[in-house]
Amino acid sequence: MQEHNYWLTTTEFPKVDARALPARVDVAVIGAGYTGLSAAQTLARRGAKVAVLESETIGWGASSRNGGMVLTGMKLGVNKLISLYGRELTRRMYAASLATIDCVEQIVHEEKIDCGFARCGHLEVACKQKHFDDYARQVDVIAREFNHTLRVVQRNELSAEIGSRIYYGGMVDEVSAGLNPARYVAGLSCAAIKAGAEIFQHTRVQRVRRESSQGEAGWRVVTSRGALWAREVFVATSGYTGAATPALRRKIIPIGSFIITTEVLREELVRELSPRGRMIYDSKHYLYYYRLTPDWRMLFGGRAAFFPENDRTVRSSAEILRRGMIEVYPQLRDAKVEYVWGGTLDFAFDIMPHAGQMDGLYYALGYAGHGVAMATYQGQKMAEMIAGDKPDNPFVGITFPGAPLGLYSGSPWFLPLAGAWYKVLDWVS
Ligand SMILES: Cc1cc2nc3c(=O)[nH]c(=O)nc-3n(C[C@H](O)[C@H](O)[C@H](O)COP(=O)(O)OP(=O)(O)OC[C@H]3O[C@@H](n4cnc5c(N)ncnc54)[C@H](O)[C@@H]3O)c2cc1C
Repeated sequence: MQEHNYWLTTTEFPKVDARALPARVDVAVIGAGYTGLSAAQTLARRGAKVAVLESETIGWGASSRNGGMVLTGMKLGVNKLISLYGRELTRRMYAASLATIDCVEQIVHEEKIDCGFARCGHLEVACKQKHFDDYARQVDVIAREFNHTLRVVQRNELSAEIGSRIYYGGMVDEVSAGLNPARYVAGLSCAAIKAGAEIFQHTRVQRVRRESSQGEAGWRVVTSRGALWAREVFVATSGYTGAATPALRRKIIPIGSFIITTEVLREELVRELSPRGRMIYDSKHYLYYYRLTPDWRMLFGGRAAFFPENDRTVRSSAEILRRGMIEVYPQLRDAKVEYVWGGTLDFAFDIMPHAGQMDGLYYALGYAGHGVAMATYQGQKMAEMIAGDKPDNPFVGITFPGAPLGLYSGSPWFLPLAGAWYKVLDWVS
C-alpha cells in the first residue's frame, strides 16, 4: 500500500514557471484550490490583473484530495437550516446549493475539462431505523419548500442501489454528480491561466497589512518570495487557513479526512457493490463516504482520525477505513488496499459555509466536507462581489460565530474531545 493520493496518479498539472512577483495587482488571491482558481478565472475574464499566491503547488490542498462528490444540499439538514435561518433564507441557500452543481458543470463543459463529470446522483444510507424514518420527512420538506425531488429507497429495494446489507434504507438525489477532483482542479487552473490570471506556486503569504500605493488604498502582501501590492485580497485557504490571516483562522476548525482506494476490481463485483455508480455516504456524524473510481476501484473515506493529515494519522486511518469498508462490503475482505491519503476539512463552529469581508479582506470558506461544488461557486460569486456587482449570495452576511468564550486561537486542542463527542452522538442519536 502506498501513502499517496490515487487521484494524482491520473492527473497532469500545468507547468507554471517560477517568475518574479508583479509589483502591483488588482486582486491577490491566496490559495490555488477550487475557491481561489474559480475566483481568479472570473476576475481575470473581467479584465482584472490577478495573482494567485499558493504556498505549495496548484491544487495541493483539499481540492486534489477529496472524494469528487459534487453534492446538492448542505452539511446541515433542511429542518435544522429552517430552524436557524427561517424559510426564506433557507430557500435561497438550497437554491444556491443546486446552482453550485450547474456552475461546476458549466465550467467543465466550457473549458472542456476532462474530469469525468457525470450526473450519477448521490445515495445517503441510513445506519439506524430512526435515521431512515427521518428521510421521508426530509423528502417532504425539500419537495414542498424547495421544489426539489429526492427519492426514498426502502430497505427491501436497496440492492438496486448498493451491494450492502447493513443499512435500513436510503435516499437518492439524481441531481448530484461525480468527478475526478484532481483533474478538475488542474483544469480549473488552466482555465484561470487562459483567462489571464498568473499563478505563483511555492509562494506562501506571510503577512497582509493595509497600505496605500500611488494614492490608492490597498494591501501590502508579504510572501516567502517577496512582497506585492494589491487593491483587494481574497482569502481562499479553507482548512489550511493559517497565521497570515489570524482573524479567519480563529473561526475555522481544521479537521482531518482520510481515504483509501482498493486495487482495480472485477466488473461483476463492481456492478454488485454500486449498480448505479452513485456517490454514497451514510447517516452518521462520524460518517463514511464512498464511490467507485472510473477505473473501478472502491474509494472509501471517512474521518478516521480527527487531526489533520500527517504520517501517523494517515497510517492509522488506513487500517480503520479498511475495517469500515469490510463492515459495509464484506465482499471486499480480500481486496488489496493500494492507496491511502488524507486532507484537511474546514469546519466553521456552526458547520455552515461563510463568505464576505472580514477586516477588509474578502474570504469564502467553511465548506465542511461539502466543498467541491460550493467552493467553485463561492469563488465565482465573491469575484463578482470584488468586481463591484451585488450577486445574490445567501452565505454573505449570516452570523459567523467564533469559539464559545473565545477559547480558540487556531490550534484545535479540543479535537480529541470533539471526536469523542461525535462518537457518543452516533451511539445515542
Ligand atoms: C479527504 C477529503 C475528502 C473530501 N471529499 C469531498 C467530497 O467528496 N465532496 C465535496 O463536496 N467536498 C469534499 N471535500 C471538501 C473539498 O475538497 C473542499 O471543501 C474544497 O476542496 C475546498 O477548496 P478550497 O479551494 O477552498 O481549499 P483547498 O483546496 O484546501 O485550497 C487551499 C489552498 O490554500 C493554500 N494556502 C493556505 N495558506 C496559504 C498561505 N498562507 N499562502 C499561500 N497559500 C496558502 C493551501 O496550500 C491550499 O492549496 C473533501 C475534503 C477532503 C480533505
